[in-house]
Amino acid sequence: MSLIAANLEKVQKRIAAAAARSGRPEEEIQLVAVTKTQSVQTVLEGIEAGVKIIGENRVQEALTKHSQIGERVKWHLIGHLQKNKVKKALAIFEMIHSVDSLELVQEIDKQAAKLGKVIDILLQVNVSGELSKFGLAPEQTYRLAEQVSNLPNVNLCGLMTIPPLSSNPENSRPYFRVLAKLKQELTRQGLEGLKYLSMGMSNDFEVAIEEGANFVRVGSAIFGERNF
Ligand SMILES: *Cc1c(COP(=O)(O)O)cnc(C)c1O
Repeated sequence: MSLIAANLEKVQKRIAAAAARSGRPEEEIQLVAVTKTQSVQTVLEGIEAGVKIIGENRVQEALTKHSQIGERVKWHLIGHLQKNKVKKALAIFEMIHSVDSLELVQEIDKQAAKLGKVIDILLQVNVSGELSKFGLAPEQTYRLAEQVSNLPNVNLCGLMTIPPLSSNPENSRPYFRVLAKLKQELTRQGLEGLKYLSMGMSNDFEVAIEEGANFVRVGSAIFGERNF
């Protein structure tokens, strides 16, 4: 078994265990294998081992990989998206986890309409308020979500967050909890179709699952340290 296959199996077991601990069915949690900076060869090894969803944070890098790998996996954009890259992004990604402004989502809607597509998106929420992070303030989320619901070619289906970097996964728990509460609150206020919470990375995905994540975005625990 390759190292990547062995790592993937470990991660999947840990996902299953965290789901079991929280009384959730394992199938509820989807693994987004984050392949930024990794080679096509490495991505192919991951796919061979059973990866179903690829997460990339740069459009150009993803396009290059996609041209060699194609549609045998699903492609999710997890990194910041610039308006001028939207058209290219829509050619390959079926979900965008990182939407955080009206201008951006209007451009996504416009380009998706041209392609005759409806694209799934998540709103990225900056729960910690760190200035270095993209994302909406929690209190801005309702308004943008409402505006998105009027856009025919964009389907808002959940929320995403990235907590502050920490070596202790327990430090992420309060941020995950806030995101889960926010999703509940938006639903209570009448927003429909919020199904997903995208939260948890290599260091804290088990805590994220305990707090309700259904997409975990895991890179280095599967593919090893990144090449820069
Ligand atoms: C890089 C990245 C990940 C994965 O990080 P790891 O710590 O390697 O698991 C997850 N989400 C986003 C948005 C990322 O940019």
